[in-house]
Amino acid sequence: MLVAPKRIELRKEPPPNAPPGGIVVRVRAALTDGTDLKTYRRGHPKIPMPTRFGHEFAGDVAATGEGVTKFARGDAVMCVHSAPCGVCFWCRQGEEELCEDVIPAMILGAYSDLIAVPKRIVERNCFHKPTDVGYAEGAFLEPLACVVHSIARLAPARDSTVVVLGNGGFGILHALLLQREGVKVLLFGRRPERLHLARELGLESLDSRNAPIREVVLEQTDGRGADAAIECTGSAEMWESAPSLVRRGGRVSFFAGLPADASVSFLAARLHYDEVTLLAPFHFTPSDVRTAFDLIAARAVPLLRLISDVYPLAQITGAFAKLDAGEGLKMLIEP
Ligand SMILES: [Zn+2]
Repeated sequence: MLVAPKRIELRKEPPPNAPPGGIVVRVRAALTDGTDLKTYRRGHPKIPMPTRFGHEFAGDVAATGEGVTKFARGDAVMCVHSAPCGVCFWCRQGEEELCEDVIPAMILGAYSDLIAVPKRIVERNCFHKPTDVGYAEGAFLEPLACVVHSIARLAPARDSTVVVLGNGGFGILHALLLQREGVKVLLFGRRPERLHLARELGLESLDSRNAPIREVVLEQTDGRGADAAIECTGSAEMWESAPSLVRRGGRVSFFAGLPADASVSFLAARLHYDEVTLLAPFHFTPSDVRTAFDLIAARAVPLLRLISDVYPLAQITGAFAKLDAGEGLKMLIEP
């Protein structure tokens, strides 16, 4: 339980019951991500404390609820923490990422021994983990689904040049998937350990402290600007600078969110006379989750390389203290 900013308490609680149509998963691997770190540091407007947290996980089915036929006790599974309702206005439009119930009904609490997964998620966004895929890789289903959705919205052409701002977990996942699709990626970041990791992963890893990002981008694109830019840092300053990095007719995708009360401004002429398009992909649909599952099953991305360290659940405070100090990328928590 996160009881206050930067205070995690381990609690003994009775095991959850499997809801009708749902399952209980014994967590074998849970991953930290930027949202968890933000919540840990200063709380989250949608997640009042004290709260369970953690939402990227894979494990074994410990119990099944009434009517479950897809999974049996002991099955290894990988799930995401939400699923659309299928009946609201947005779901009927096929915009399931905007489902009015997708966020209110999401489950948290992957940093625990057991987590109850409701019927809707079991039916739509849970998969049998292939035996040659580890639990840690399976836990990437949710972050990868976010990135699949983001890239599907942007739909960059093969051989186009895409700038990725920020080399955290999401920046690197974007870069790896884009490169796999034949896109030339310029990945910008600052932290030396991440710059180094990105380089090791075969990415064009650029240190944004060396020269202004815009200068580097113009130099690499015959002075035109990139075909697209993806903002993965979540800083208002970077949001505002992103449209200056793309060519006339280019596209900018704001992947990382800003605080709910943040506002940003752009030069109107860039959007109108230069036809720069702005996008801000959010969350994912069941079809994105399926694509992410297929990518994991095909071992398409070296996911384990993104894990900096492994902690048993009892030492989760150590994992967050380290992340809070600016070290590491993703931590693997093993209950
Ligand atoms: Zn819905």
